[in-house]
Parts: sequence; C-alpha cells; structure tokens
Amino acid sequence: AGSLFIVPTPIGNLSDMTPRAIEVLASVDLIAAEDTRHSGKLLQHFEIKTNAISLHAHNESARSEYIVDKLLEGLNVALISDAGTPLISDPGFELVNRCREKGVMVSALPGACALTTALSACGLPTDKFTFSGFLPVKIQARESSLLQAIDSAHTHVFYESPKRILDTLTSIEKHRPEAQVVIAKELSKTFETYQKGAATDLIKWLSAEQARQKGEFVLIVYQAKEKVPDALPDEAKKLLGLLLPLLP
Ligand code: SAM
Repeated sequence: AGSLFIVPTPIGNLSDMTPRAIEVLASVDLIAAEDTRHSGKLLQHFEIKTNAISLHAHNESARSEYIVDKLLEGLNVALISDAGTPLISDPGFELVNRCREKGVMVSALPGACALTTALSACGLPTDKFTFSGFLPVKIQARESSLLQAIDSAHTHVFYESPKRILDTLTSIEKHRPEAQVVIAKELSKTFETYQKGAATDLIKWLSAEQARQKGEFVLIVYQAKEKVPDALPDEAKKLLGLLLPLLP
C-alpha cells in the first residue's frame, strides 16, 4: 500500500513552507486539499504539479473511502488544509482514522500551526495546556464552555473568530476578571501582534482602533488559581483546598 502524508502549509508567511513539505507534495501521486482552488495558488507558487482533489467537512466521509482505496492500490497521497497543520481545527480525522484501521502508513510532517506558534511566544505557562479549538457559536454555550475550561489552573488555548473576540473577552471580564489573557494576532504576517493583560485591558486595546479587531486570532487564557464554585459551603471549600493539591 501507499502512504498518507500529513503536510502543514504556511499560516500567513510563504517562507514557512518547509523544503520537505514541497518535496513530498511534488512527489506524491495525489493531494487531498481542503479547498483545491485556495491551495492551487500555493501549489502554483512552489511549482508543484501534482493532481489535487477536495477533502472538506462536507465530503470527508465519502472522500476518505475513495482515498483509502487509492492508498490500498499503492498510490501515495498528501493531505493539506487551507493553512497550518491539517486536523488541527481542520478536516482529516476521518481519513487518518480509516487509514489506521486499514493498516495504511500515516506520516505527519512537522510544520506551521497557529496553536504551537502562539503558545510558545505568549508568556503564559506552557508545561500543561489544553487546546479547545473554536468555542461554540451560540453565546450561552460559549460562555459556559469558556468558563468551564479556564477554571482548571493551567493554560487554555482557543482559536477565535474576529466576529466574536470582543464577546468572549467580555465574558472573561465579567466572570473571571483576574484571569491573564493573551491575544496572538496575525502570526507570521506583517502585523503580527501579541497583547497580554486582563480581559478588560485587551477590550480597551481592541476597541481603540477598528483595525485591531480584524485578522486571525489565537486566544490564550490562564487563571493562576483553581476556581472553587461559589455554591459550596465554607467547610467544603476548605476540604477541597486540602484535597486539590493531592490530585494527580
Ligand atoms: N490548521 C490550522 C493551524 O494549524 O493552526 C488552523 C485552522 S483553523 C480553521 C483557523 C484558525 O486558526 C483561525 O481562525 C485562527 O484562530 C487561527 N489562525 C490561523 N492562522 C493564524 C495566524 N496567522 N495568526 C493567528 N491565528 C491564526
């Protein structure tokens, strides 16, 4: 059987395309791309002539079956998404899962990813973190997912749409004003920016100029102390305080 290669592509700076990524994309028999038109520009830029087919959220199931058949026939296939690392808030899980089930070799190339890029430069603890991708769109579900996530005392990373960044920060300002927050914006692009502070500071910063609210964002939140639900009686809080440090 052939092999499936997971190939990261740049998140905003073409120079982040690795020589190995170019080599693999040029040498495989088929590229599965989230959006063939979008990726067409990248492939053209690097003079890669390999045939591309689409694999996106709406055809992943059928396409994965087709691609696994091709892999079993002996073709080598590369998977790319619109930007960054496939499967990280991007399609591909079903394909990789099927490959593993059928014993097809899957190999991932290291490369650009907004999550690790933002985390490594944000200045919040990196020894333990949770990545939750995009929060739910509906405001109530969002707020409860957000608060539930950040209440454990380690770093939390979210991908956030420019349409919702202010709402999310407002929820943090209202319910967890003491949390430390970083917005990492336009990573690897000309206007790359990291802004760190309490949610209230970041709301002020974003609101000061319309342009600051545009672009691509990673949101990172850290609350130094585990939040004990307020509904608990004092005695239970004391007990919880004693027990929490003993948990693995
Ligand atoms: N697979 C991609 C990766 O490896 O990072 C992520 C794909 S996800 C659909 C797109 C989201 O990633 C954006 O909405 C934004 O939150 C984040 N993102 C992607 N590129 C970024 C960049 N250059 N700067 C900041 N955030 C970015």
